[in-house]
Order: sequence, then structure tokens, then C-alpha cells
Amino acid sequence: MPTPEIVPSAYDQTLLTRQVGELLDRHIPRAITTGERVLIKPNLLLAAPPDKAILTHPLVVRAAAAWVLDHGGTPLIADSPAVGSVEKIWRMGGFQEALKGMPVEVKGFETAAPIDIGAPFGTIGLAAEALKTQTIINLPKFKTHAMMTLTLGVKNLFGCVVGFEKPKWHARAGIQRDQFARLLVGIAEAIRPTVTLVDAITGLEGQGPGKNGTPRPMGFLVAGADIHAVDAACARMAGLAPEALPTLAAALTLGHIQAIPNAPLPEKIFSDFKLPTQSPVTFGPPFMKDLIRKHMVQRPVVNPAACKKCNQCLTYCPVGAITETDEAVAFDLETCIRCYCCVEVCPHAALTAVDTRVGHWLQKAKKLADRVF
Ligand code: SF4
Ligand code: SF4
Repeated sequence: MPTPEIVPSAYDQTLLTRQVGELLDRHIPRAITTGERVLIKPNLLLAAPPDKAILTHPLVVRAAAAWVLDHGGTPLIADSPAVGSVEKIWRMGGFQEALKGMPVEVKGFETAAPIDIGAPFGTIGLAAEALKTQTIINLPKFKTHAMMTLTLGVKNLFGCVVGFEKPKWHARAGIQRDQFARLLVGIAEAIRPTVTLVDAITGLEGQGPGKNGTPRPMGFLVAGADIHAVDAACARMAGLAPEALPTLAAALTLGHIQAIPNAPLPEKIFSDFKLPTQSPVTFGPPFMKDLIRKHMVQRPVVNPAACKKCNQCLTYCPVGAITETDEAVAFDLETCIRCYCCVEVCPHAALTAVDTRVGHWLQKAKKLADRVF
């Protein structure tokens, strides 16, 4: 399998049509047959304009669709958004305008088909279109993620879990990053995209992957057939050791890769790229897990001035830990599993994950220890 490529790029339609086309030519090993349906899976998390850098940029999606059409295929562009319908995201995200006149099918995943992704999860329902389509173009956005550090190729495929099954699987995986990472790797191995092409032209840093993140101009596309090698290359771009990415560590533990892939070094490393602040959630013996969760792990907190009482967070919380109040919303922190789905889906950036006092001091102690040792 050829190593991934990192290509300097910009949001220019002519440039992207050429660059994305060349990358797909090089990294999709098989010819598309006439009329063949090709699944394009961008990140369509929620309705947000392109300058917020939350979704795969419409011009990148357009370039991928143009390549499929040029090769005689039929593009199907689909995702299962966390909030809102694909139609609304298509309109508000600038896709309708960018792909105007192109004969593409756009839809939200609706039907799930069962597939065994191995222990401890067993059978999971994944988008039937993704399981039955032979050629899949995975188009993630380069973004931070409160739980997974970065959301790249592997994490993007969590969108193949249909609708409200997503928060249920969040709940099953619990607060342990390594467990959720294993779930994501199991899903990625079941979907097996033909190619992964990351939109890292403008990334999202800080408290991503939703509206609390901050757009970060970067200027690259990263593409390859080996999803883990693509993710490793992206981790290096963000100044992160690939083995520190939970999904890569999980792929290694589960035996899907034998070693951290030898991804090419980007010509620019964004060593000041702001990763999300995270609590050390997965240490300690099992009997202490509840105590750790309550007192050390970041909590969701609402800014009542920003809350529009839209109830998206209530609907999405996998364990029903959120209730409506007169001013905004309230959290039952005994029930909350600290999955941060609510922070991710809030369309008004009214929620943040905030360190507890103990967690804050632990972070400080860790930084000090890192400097000393
Ligand atoms: S916190 Fe956000 S998602 Fe929840 S009700 Fe308020 S605005 Fe809506
Ligand atoms: S309140 Fe938020 S962080 Fe807690 S379980 Fe619900 S969605 Fe997850």
C-alpha cells in the first residue's frame, strides 16, 4: 500500500479539482465501473458555514464528486449528523451552492445493517450503504476532539453509526478513552474505506470538534489508502506523537496494525497547534473509577447567557443526565458519563468541558513532572 501524501493546498475550486483528482487516481487502486455508486463520506456534524471549519469544506467534497463523475461513477454523499438534517447542513454549510448542477445524491444514513466488530462490542448496526458500497471515499476534517484528541480518518467513520444509535454506543464505551477508541477502530475496520483524504487546509484547534473549536489555517491535504497511516501523518502535523492518538494505540493493541505506520513527515509541523485540554480519565484501579469520574474528570458546564434552550443536548445525551431549567440546562453529574456529546452537539457553543479543582491541580502536577523528568 503506498504511503500517504501530504500536499500543500488551498480552497480554490480549480486547484482542488486537479489535486483531489490526482490524489484519488493515485490512491484508489481499482477502476470505477460505469454507473457504479461511490460513497463519499464527509464530516457533516451540524449546520455550520465553511469558515467555522467544523465540516469538510464544500470545495473538497465537490472535487471528490467531480472525480467520481469523471470516472463514470455515481456519487452518493452521505453522513449521519449529530444535530439536524443532512438537507439543512447541505444548505447552510455551503454545499448546495458549491455543488450546484452536479448530479449527486445527498442523504442522511437511515438504514443500519448488523456487523460483528469483535469483542467486547460484538454486533453493531452500521449504515447499510457503507457496508455494501465497494468504493468509499472518506473525507474527514482535521479537527480536535475532546475525547479522542483529534478527529481524523478513523473517527470520521463513527458517522456511519445511524442516528441515535451513536449516543447509545458512546454510553456503552463509557468514559474510557481506550475503550471508545477500540469501538472506533472496530467500526473503521468494518467499513474499510478505499481512501481517506483529510481536509487540513483549515483545521479546527482548541476545544473541537464543534462550535467551541477555533479555525486554524494549515494549508494541506493528506491522502492515502491506509487510514491509520493517514491519521499518523496528521498527528505528526499537529505536533503529536502518533502513538499518543488513542485510535492508533487501539489499532496497535487490537492487532490491526503491527507498528505505528511510517507516515511521511509533513513539510510543516504545527507544534503550537492547540490540542483540547483533557482530564486524565483512564488511570486508577476499577473500584476507584466512580470517584475519579466525579472528582477529577472534566464536567460539562453551561453558559446560561449563550444557551438558547434548543434542547439539542437533552435529546442527544446518551444517559439522560440533562434537564431543562428556567435559565438554561442542568446536569446530573452522578449520571453523566463524561462523554461530552452535549458539548459537541450544542449549536450555540453554550457548553464547555471544565476541569474540576482536583483535575486542574493534577494537570499542573503532570506538567511539572513532565518538565522535571
Ligand atoms: S446548552 Fe446548547 S444544546 Fe443545550 S439547550 Fe442550551 S443551546 Fe441548546
Ligand atoms: S451530560 Fe453531556 S457529557 Fe454527560 S453524559 Fe450527557 S452528553 Fe455526555
